[in-house]
Amino acid sequence: MNRWLLQACLGFVLLGGYLDSRAERYALVPDQVIDGVQDTAQVEVAVLVEGARIVELVAKDLIPADYERIDLQGMTLMPGMINAHEHPLLYDDNYQTAHLTASSAYKALLGLAAMQRWLAHGWTTIRVMGDGDVFYGNQDLQRVFSEGVFVGPRITGAAHYISITGGGGDINYGSPEQTLIADGLIADGPVEIRKAIRTEIKYGSDWIKLLVTGAFHSVGDDPRNVAFSPDELAEAVAEAARHNVPVAAHAHATDGINQAIQAGVRSIEHGTYLNDESIRLMVEHGTFYVPTIYVGDYYAGTDKLLAQEKNDDAYLSYRDEWLEKIGRAHAAGVKVVVGVDLGGYNIEPEAYAREFAALIEAGLSPMAAIQAGTSVSADLLQWSDRVGRIQSGLFADLIAVPGNPLEDISVLEAPSFVMMSGKVVKPVQ
Ligand SMILES: [Zn+2]
Repeated sequence: MNRWLLQACLGFVLLGGYLDSRAERYALVPDQVIDGVQDTAQVEVAVLVEGARIVELVAKDLIPADYERIDLQGMTLMPGMINAHEHPLLYDDNYQTAHLTASSAYKALLGLAAMQRWLAHGWTTIRVMGDGDVFYGNQDLQRVFSEGVFVGPRITGAAHYISITGGGGDINYGSPEQTLIADGLIADGPVEIRKAIRTEIKYGSDWIKLLVTGAFHSVGDDPRNVAFSPDELAEAVAEAARHNVPVAAHAHATDGINQAIQAGVRSIEHGTYLNDESIRLMVEHGTFYVPTIYVGDYYAGTDKLLAQEKNDDAYLSYRDEWLEKIGRAHAAGVKVVVGVDLGGYNIEPEAYAREFAALIEAGLSPMAAIQAGTSVSADLLQWSDRVGRIQSGLFADLIAVPGNPLEDISVLEAPSFVMMSGKVVKPVQ
């Protein structure tokens, strides 16, 4: 063995022993810190990290000597971003039938690539809102990430969106002779809904996603119609509650939004045709609101989706009014959350953070928009003791972005530094 190789091996052994004997300690030293909660950024502070967790914020001149300094000069440090509405395994614009030509394994591998790209772009937690996958690829990704086989974001969520026959999760453009397996999980009546929810939970879903109304991007249904009947909705919420699993309601139609809130869902997804009563009910019930604005902008005017023609007129003519209502809901005290909804592998990773700009356009301040994608999002997930804030004891899921996002929110599209559970997954660039 030559001397270089011997030294390299020894070095590796020593370093390995060093790492095993004590947790890594870092002092992250940025220009300013946005902690996800306070309304102003803090300057002249550093964030101390030991092992997987945040220790505390300290004044820059009080950093202990045994912490390795990571210089984040010119940058803002903030909690990792949480995307509360995503479909990581959707990899094709023709998302309703793509699963018929790709195995769950193939989609999971594309989903792995997508999620690692998202992590490198600052998204450290993802809530899956059902996926075009007949089996449970997302739950397997959640498993391999938590086992440390691969590095990826934290995942929670539902494997499927549960839909009525002919609803937004059904394939409504096959001939009656075809028995196509739908992208959603089809359930009609309280008995089938109970079975669908039990199946979801059995295979690892920790949320239940219901398509309470029709959808924009699916073929053959109408977002202005309510899909589930009141007894189906009540059964869904009651069954999920028996297993201590929250329900997320995809709802565009006004009646669907208001019925879902009153039935006790934890979040309204999209909520496009909300009215004053919806805002009042969300405040009264403490319901979270995940509007997913940017996905509509992304697809508007394109011919990428089969249902796009249906989508365009309805979306574009109503967009301004909707954004005004979102701003009004936020001002009234509704907990508005960042959810992106763009899907997985075929979307450029910079696009996801544009949801923050859309929320600002709706009337949120830049700081409120950042909170919507960090602390408020963590509250929705019931993970406020884990992520979403820079606070002692929480996981060190942290990102640094160039400059000041309070002045230019687009800097969230390309973070310069990403730490996940106290490990640097994207070094400073
Ligand atoms: Zn969605």
